[in-house]
Amino acid sequence: MSKTDLRDLTLDELKLAVEELGEKPFRAKQIFSWLHQKGAESFEEFKNIPQALREKIGEKYYISKLDIVEKLVSKDGTVKYLFDIGDGILIESVLMKYSYGCALCISTQAGCRMGCKFCASTLDGLERNLSASEILNQVYTIKKDSGENIHSIVLMGSGEPLDNFENVVKFLYIINHPEGMGLGMRHITLSTCGLTEKIEELSKLKLQLTLAISLHAPNDDIRKKTMPVANKYPLESIVKAAVNYSKATGRRVTYEYALIKGVNDSKENALELSARLKGTLCHVNLIPVNDVKENDFIRAEERNIQEFASVLTQKGIETTVRRKLGSDINAACGQLRKKYKRC
Ligand code: SAH
Repeated sequence: MSKTDLRDLTLDELKLAVEELGEKPFRAKQIFSWLHQKGAESFEEFKNIPQALREKIGEKYYISKLDIVEKLVSKDGTVKYLFDIGDGILIESVLMKYSYGCALCISTQAGCRMGCKFCASTLDGLERNLSASEILNQVYTIKKDSGENIHSIVLMGSGEPLDNFENVVKFLYIINHPEGMGLGMRHITLSTCGLTEKIEELSKLKLQLTLAISLHAPNDDIRKKTMPVANKYPLESIVKAAVNYSKATGRRVTYEYALIKGVNDSKENALELSARLKGTLCHVNLIPVNDVKENDFIRAEERNIQEFASVLTQKGIETTVRRKLGSDINAACGQLRKKYKRC
């Protein structure tokens, strides 16, 4: 009989598992806290659990952990981790240091099937979804390895989080649980290329997380040039789903917009974007596109970036330009993993 990953269970699932072993439910809370608060990697660490029970658990369950394959430290302090999740499949996560604390960018899938043309994660398609524990283990492993306190988490590594909805939601509930790491939902950002029906599903959960939408274009024609997903979900339906998300949760939505030279970075594009977003509870994050070796997209020029930002601001849309970290260590999505696979 193959064993089940204990770290992949919610507290409720753990309660059932403990009951099935003929034990009292309070044991579930203790085990959950070992796994998700104290970062235990073996049953021997479960100090307040009797040895007989540890052995009984060990017959049916195992505790997953992630192996660090490579760790790259940038001059600016950004650290990129490459993990092996078995069968030669690699995933990556990035630790970024800011004045307010550390932010962690993690992956939700190995590869991605969304096909955005500027993104390195999608070049080989989707390998597989990550389990909730594989998403959690990126956080726990990096926390332990770096000794840093994790202030916030962004689901902006490889993969489309809403294409792995069930496991991502499970991850969110576990990481937020007070008996676990207890990370506030407001410290978590979920970034999506805009799967509208899944955004509606997320709205129903009324979580307080920040929803970030990768828009990258002011209209469908331009969007279709770089994002195949635009053929299925018109921009209008995405903005509508985002407005509904704000209504359901009271949260401001972030739109990400990677500025690509000659594609989406003109003053006209900025005016069209501001007209689209006017009156909605939002914030635009402008990102100078990261060059990816496998494609021809070039980052917009500094003066276009500044002009784009000032048009949006003048039109009353709150706008920031993202600071670039870790460019010397292939810190952009999927870049390190890609490089490694070629070697
Ligand atoms: N699939 C999700 C999350 C992963 S990508 C999404 O689409 O939002 C995280 C963010 O990085 C997205 O906004 C994505 O469009 C952006 N991105 C991908 N490749 C990039 C590149 N080369 N330069 C700048 N941003 C990039």
